[in-house]
Amino acid sequence: MSPSDPAEIWARCLLNIEKKTSRQSFETWLRSIKCSHFESKQMVLDVPSTFFAEWVEEHFLPLIQSSVLEVTSLSPQISFFVMQQEGSGGPAPLVKPERIAPSLQISPHESNMNLNPRYTFDTFVVGNSNQLANAAARAVADAPGTTAFNPLLIYSGVGLGKTHILQAIAHHSLKKSNALQVVYVSSEKFFLDFIDSIQNNKRQEFSKIYRNADLLLVDDVQFLVNKETTQEEFFHTFNVLHQNGKQIVLTSDCPPSELKGLEERLVSRFQWGLVADIQTPDLETRIAILQKKATTDGIELPQGVISFIAENVTSNVRELEGTLIRLLASASITNQDITLPFAQDLLKNIIQTASPAVTIEAIQTAVSMHYNIPYDLIVAETRKKAVVMARQVAMYLAKAHTKSSLKTIGLHFGGRDHSTVIHACKSVQEKIANDANFREELKKISELCKYTHT
Ligand code: ADP
Ligand code: MG
Repeated sequence: MSPSDPAEIWARCLLNIEKKTSRQSFETWLRSIKCSHFESKQMVLDVPSTFFAEWVEEHFLPLIQSSVLEVTSLSPQISFFVMQQEGSGGPAPLVKPERIAPSLQISPHESNMNLNPRYTFDTFVVGNSNQLANAAARAVADAPGTTAFNPLLIYSGVGLGKTHILQAIAHHSLKKSNALQVVYVSSEKFFLDFIDSIQNNKRQEFSKIYRNADLLLVDDVQFLVNKETTQEEFFHTFNVLHQNGKQIVLTSDCPPSELKGLEERLVSRFQWGLVADIQTPDLETRIAILQKKATTDGIELPQGVISFIAENVTSNVRELEGTLIRLLASASITNQDITLPFAQDLLKNIIQTASPAVTIEAIQTAVSMHYNIPYDLIVAETRKKAVVMARQVAMYLAKAHTKSSLKTIGLHFGGRDHSTVIHACKSVQEKIANDANFREELKKISELCKYTHT
């Protein structure tokens, strides 16, 4: 076949591929691929992300190969090229590992210090939950060491974007100034390298790398807790950098004041600049994050599916991403369209859809079942000890699990007064405080309530 335009050849291959695959797979994974280079031995396919490349390679490579062979009678080697985000122009900047992985020089066997190319400010969705952390991170990345945010400490629970933001600072500042010495390290790595440097007589080398940084980014400082000697070294590194107007950014899984086992002088230094937290994202931000991920990976998802995931996966962004990937994977493997029923069915086991509100009647039924006391007795006049106890438990659970007022609860128990309900709650609480078996029993009854329908 005569040499021709790669785009044209690829367009013909795509027509062939389209016939051999499901519409969903084709639209999700294949249509957006471009071919930027084609010759008899080599062909380069441009894809929007690393995840995308891996996915296509794993699931569609034989299909692509066979179509290319059919259309061109050639079997070039196929490689993937990850394109940069739209709008930023040019290929994705390749991060130079030696500039961001100083510890490589100490322990060359460890080559996992590379920054994730995905973790940039462009891909970070900003909402109420992370606005301050994002603004401060951007300011610092723009002009390291010159803002009031030194150090900048960002804290949050897991999967909420600390590592992403920290690496975004590294990407951004390196892009702005190539000459900047950026050191990005997890505190675990700092610790391991430090130990290594002691064992191998490389203390000076170690200190030099960290103390010469213009921008030191340390992820997960909570790892330094109870590691006194490493803390000591970190303390000195911190001081040298801070005194020289160098920028320090730290992340932690809790506010500095709660880092028990961290020297007081470090805790106080961590609070010198700005301490910013990241909260769990609200619904709008979760939707925006899902939309952004889908767009980045060149995937079109029905709005209903996005809302469904965003409404039900609320814990953190990592879970949100995991759910999306699982959905895409399943749809692709089973050749199905990603519709709302498909998503609902697939995710029913991992998503705990909000259980319907528990009613007072359901509680009464569950209590009567658990204690084997007829339902009528629970609400009747009787003062038999066992019945009184069960009734009090039911009242307590009604107060704990429904939004009903004391008065309403009393009415549901044979028109009793609200003070009777207060008394019941008090006695149950006392028993909870003093009796572990009773606590377990209450847990069981509470569970039972959820499955009791009235
Ligand atoms: P942490 O370090 O707080 O545990 P990560 O930075 O590892 O969390 O984030 C977990 C995942 O969620 C990463 O893939 C990250 O890209 C993504 N993520 C977190 N927050 C956001 C956000 N605001 N916008 C886009 N992606 C996010
Ligand atoms: Mg992290």
